[in-house]
Amino acid sequence: MVRRNAFPRVCVALGLATAKELLQHARQEALAGERFLEFRLDYLENPEQGIAAMRRVLTEYPDVVALATCRRQQSHGLFAGGIEEQLRILQAAVKAGAAAVDIEIETAERARAALGAFNKDCLLVISYHNFSSTPAMEALLRRMTKHPASAYKIVVTARKPSDLHRLLAIARTCTDVPMILLSMDAIGFPSRVVSCIYGGLYTYAAPQSVEGTASGQVTAKTLRNLYRIEKLGRATKLFGVIADPVGHSISPAVHNRAFQSQRIDAVYLPFLVHAPHLKDFLLTAEKLPVSGFSVTIPHKEKILRHLDVVDPLARRIGAVNTVWRKAGKWRGTNTDAAAVTGPLSKHLRLGKSSVLVAGSGGAARAACFALADAGARLSITGRNAIRVRALAAACGAEALSLSEVETRRFDAVVHATPVGMYPRAGESLFPGSIPADLVFDMVYNPLETELLRRARNEKKLTIHGLEMFLAQAAEQFQIWTGTSAPRGVMETAARDALGIQKSNAGRTDK
Ligand code: NAP
Repeated sequence: MVRRNAFPRVCVALGLATAKELLQHARQEALAGERFLEFRLDYLENPEQGIAAMRRVLTEYPDVVALATCRRQQSHGLFAGGIEEQLRILQAAVKAGAAAVDIEIETAERARAALGAFNKDCLLVISYHNFSSTPAMEALLRRMTKHPASAYKIVVTARKPSDLHRLLAIARTCTDVPMILLSMDAIGFPSRVVSCIYGGLYTYAAPQSVEGTASGQVTAKTLRNLYRIEKLGRATKLFGVIADPVGHSISPAVHNRAFQSQRIDAVYLPFLVHAPHLKDFLLTAEKLPVSGFSVTIPHKEKILRHLDVVDPLARRIGAVNTVWRKAGKWRGTNTDAAAVTGPLSKHLRLGKSSVLVAGSGGAARAACFALADAGARLSITGRNAIRVRALAAACGAEALSLSEVETRRFDAVVHATPVGMYPRAGESLFPGSIPADLVFDMVYNPLETELLRRARNEKKLTIHGLEMFLAQAAEQFQIWTGTSAPRGVMETAARDALGIQKSNAGRTDK
């Protein structure tokens, strides 16, 4: 069996159109400290030139482990030649110093006799690629392991969350077979980070400044710095966020940095979960297992019916944004609620204040029930009169139209619609006068919305959406870990992720 440490944990896949670019990017990666590089010879018109580039890199960086690949077009590669020519190129790559070669199963099955020499002279990885689905794993592995090799690479496409578990579980049931297990695209993305926890030998990364060779690849820097891939092990706890889409979420940046700063052995992943796959995700999360997760659009309301225990406030709100597993049960709460009343109560005695909430969606509901519980005199406005009236009736508030609001004054306004959010940053729900002296905008991208900019110019108190985001994330961290959250670390991570300078760092702008 191949030694687990024969392969470093991260392999940077280099698929470039010319040998000159291949050399340039291989050098750039080696200079950045990467020690495992895949040379995709099939991307080149003349693969021999790629071998020459690889030889030069190995001369300059003798501790680099080179993996040579010359995948045929018939097996999803770019090499147009026949099998004999493919094998001859790979043999030349081994002579030039490649420590490993990747030969796809389709070639392996047709050239069994040639595999012995590769097994003698280098590490042989037999690979399988499926760009449309995740097939039955046991049958696939039986097919692949008919051919002796150092390792077996299975790259599939996840169509739903349970595909991810089926892929990773095979490493736990077949512990004696060295495997590389990856799922492409956004649903399968977590496999790129955590397959090593389940027994996968290594994962692939994209180069720093050009596209990777497969969908879903991120750079080695992201794998190392954001997900701390070198530190993940069997004891690592999994957390994440479920959403659709999920790619824009800043929660992985914030929670991973928080875990890291507190030396908590945990990783936080983006889980793309389409609306019909929510139950499938929960069953998968139980098996992986996932210890807890954030919930956002479009799952905040629908998740309730799948949970075993929901706290009374979240049930009244009708939305859950935080889930965790305890004593075999899924539990849910809503940390958005306290993330509205917390920042507001630093400036107002809520029990003696009038507050206008603008919007009637999930975030507005959380704000309304929390503010009503805190004793605020509550008014609600929004574009959807039916939803506004229903919410007002549910939490004992007054319902107002947007035009009625223009003649009224409140101690505070809480804006809970996406108006003014990137990319439509110049818009505001209150184009005329702002009806309160304290303005809380839930939108945090941009940090200073048009509403807050105008409020600040009018010398009003302002609270930006990042403060709410950080408050709800800090409470999630506390629920999941039992320790208080590193607020400063989380704020820096959020600002980094949003590309916001620290200069206007005051959480509440006066
Ligand atoms: P949601 O459930 O989709 O509700 C959106 C609300 O905004 C609905 O009342 C909707 O009215 C209204 N709306 C949408 N577009 C509008 C427009 N062009 N003009 C007027 N009203 C409009 O979303 P949500 O989860 O409540 O989130 C609302 C906002 O809060 C989002 O910007 C979100 O990013 C932000 N948020 C921030 C945090 C934080 O931590 N800072 C947390 C949660 C949410 P209809 O019913 O008529 O569609």
